[in-house]
Amino acid sequence: MSDRIYLVLLGAPGAGKGTQAQLLEEKLGIPQISTGEIFRYNLKNETELGKLAKSYYDKGELVPDEVTIRMVEARLAEEDAARGAILDGFPRNLLQAEALDGMTAEFGGIDLVPMFQLEDDVVTMRITGRRVCRNCDRVYHLTFNPARGEGCDSCGGELYQRNDDRPETVQNRLYIYYKQTSPLIGYYFAKGLLVDIDGAKPIEEMQEQLVAVLAANNIETAGSALSV
Ligand code: ADP
Ligand code: AMP
Repeated sequence: MSDRIYLVLLGAPGAGKGTQAQLLEEKLGIPQISTGEIFRYNLKNETELGKLAKSYYDKGELVPDEVTIRMVEARLAEEDAARGAILDGFPRNLLQAEALDGMTAEFGGIDLVPMFQLEDDVVTMRITGRRVCRNCDRVYHLTFNPARGEGCDSCGGELYQRNDDRPETVQNRLYIYYKQTSPLIGYYFAKGLLVDIDGAKPIEEMQEQLVAVLAANNIETAGSALSV
């Protein structure tokens, strides 16, 4: 086992990857790295990267690999990722997966790939009801995981519906998932890294499943209490 832990959370958009990553990062003491979240930050702040990503993001298409891969490389080199990371939304195609293998090779590569299994109609319900804090990116759902009050429970920020979560974009995102991202299931299966997670379970139960598969694969980091 290397000194760094790299987890790749795989599954359709809306399967619950971000929700689980946000719960897991404290338990493992390593950050969630969500490429979608980094793009949203850059869109909000109208940076050069944001301007470049906007047309792809709004249509639910993948931002070009060269840009995305460079962005992840820089993020993984930041200090808070010195013990590893929980990757959420990256990689999304084979080229990105191979690039990630290259970035992590000297630290023992990817440790585990939990695959979130969920029916498409549930995915669609999850995406259309999703609300996100404009300030801290915490994820809610109108029905399944509502905020206690008007704003974000963590920071009071405004909750909004992502542009790409509107029904007209969701179908395209699912299409892109099946076409470009789902081949990664075979890619990681062949490497013996894939573990199935039942994405239809409630949030707490999914977290319990994840913690159990991590423990079964001896994934713990120093000082982390791997309990739910
Ligand atoms: P992803 O990161 O895979 O796109 P999210 O974590 O953002 O998915 O979850 C999508 C939506 O579904 C959010 O609104 C979230 O609150 C909700 N959600 C996540 N996990 C569950 C779950 N286990 N049961 C019900 N709703 C969930
Ligand atoms: P997400 O928050 O993971 O649902 O991502 C939202 C959007 O950001 C996607 O629909 C893409 O437009 C873009 N994006 C996120 N991750 C990637 C990636 N790995 N490669 C290309 N585009 C991405």
